[in-house]
Amino acid sequence: MQSKFLTFPFIFICLLCFPLIAYNQMIQVGAAKRVLTPNPLLPISGGIGTPNPVKEKRGDLFVRAMVFEKGSVRFAIVSVDFLGWTSILGNRSKALINGISPENILIGATHTHSAPDPYGFPDAKGQSYADLKYLEFCVQQIADAVNEALANKQPAVLKVAMEDAIGKISYNYYAPALYDPRCGIIQAVATEGANKGKPIATLVNYAIHPEVLGNKQGILSPDLCGPLYEKIENSTGGMAIFMNGAIGGMVTADTRLEYGKEGQGQKEDNSWSECIRIGELLGSEALRIINKAPFLENPSLFIASRPLTFPVESPLMQYIIQKSSMKYDAFFDNKITTQLNLINIGPAQLLSVPGEAMPNVGYYVKRNMPTKMPFLLGLTNDAFGYMLAKVDYNSFKRYEYVTRTSLGEMTAEIYMEEALKLVKACPDPDK
Ligand SMILES: [Zn+2]
Repeated sequence: MQSKFLTFPFIFICLLCFPLIAYNQMIQVGAAKRVLTPNPLLPISGGIGTPNPVKEKRGDLFVRAMVFEKGSVRFAIVSVDFLGWTSILGNRSKALINGISPENILIGATHTHSAPDPYGFPDAKGQSYADLKYLEFCVQQIADAVNEALANKQPAVLKVAMEDAIGKISYNYYAPALYDPRCGIIQAVATEGANKGKPIATLVNYAIHPEVLGNKQGILSPDLCGPLYEKIENSTGGMAIFMNGAIGGMVTADTRLEYGKEGQGQKEDNSWSECIRIGELLGSEALRIINKAPFLENPSLFIASRPLTFPVESPLMQYIIQKSSMKYDAFFDNKITTQLNLINIGPAQLLSVPGEAMPNVGYYVKRNMPTKMPFLLGLTNDAFGYMLAKVDYNSFKRYEYVTRTSLGEMTAEIYMEEALKLVKACPDPDK
């Protein structure tokens, strides 16, 4: 008797709920970008020291934002064409973004070496040349791009893929073969409306230093990222976004014209046409890889974040943090704290890295992630210089520079331990 009474309301409720559940399980994706090129142009920075004057530009600097939503899970992946982007500036943008929790917003830098100084690097006298008014303009544009991406989100299906990018794209300047050739791609395709069947956005994750032009030619530029964006946008009609990988010591653009004894470039092509060659090749490789991937069936979305604290042992890094024209409120007792994120998108897993991890550190973390598609989002949420395993720290003469410009001996060790702790504490991505 009782079961009959129960069955009817149960079916009734389920019929009512079904559209709601289906709706909740629908993936929605939005994308938006803003130009960040300063007008008039500003001096450019490729690292510590005084920025160099510019006389022209090649392409524009951008912020590019991609918002993902499924049910109550909502997050944003944001990329800016700068050397790095501190959480000091990132947090100011987050305060202007409505509808996404600050810890669910990841802001990564492409690491172009031809954009204005975002750090407020002090010189030997403690003077800094960053244009704070311009950086405040960028803060607002970043928030506007994320808010617009959230407002224009639409039902979407996803593709994810990872494969080696083939061709003369990256190599390791210190030891040619020691780099990770894997290129990870996430693409969202609209399922409704005027753009039904067309990509909304394509995210590319690959390790490379965008320093073809560098900071000494008087050219402001997103470097190879500009032609990469254009290749993907001209081919798909949707927005392109680039997140860098584990690029430390010293994974860079393969601009070699002649190979020397150690495989390093004896002659290099540091021209804008070389930016176009490499950017377009990476773009066409990303499209080759993603075009053959199947659409995911009902992929799960998941995001988690944790605070991550590092001791700052390097005297140079202590000096920069203390004397920078940015006010590092997360710097206390020679320790600095940042945000670590883990994201699952269907079968792919993404981990943020707050700096330039050495490629061996990247390989170690990736092979301990429970997925065949491990994405490392380098220089994301902060970029604190190089991250070396303790056995690499202050070892080869080759590593003198990357040692000096890292926070300390334990930076990568702490990162690997905390990142993999987070991996263990979170659900696995889809099988
Ligand atoms: Zn670098």
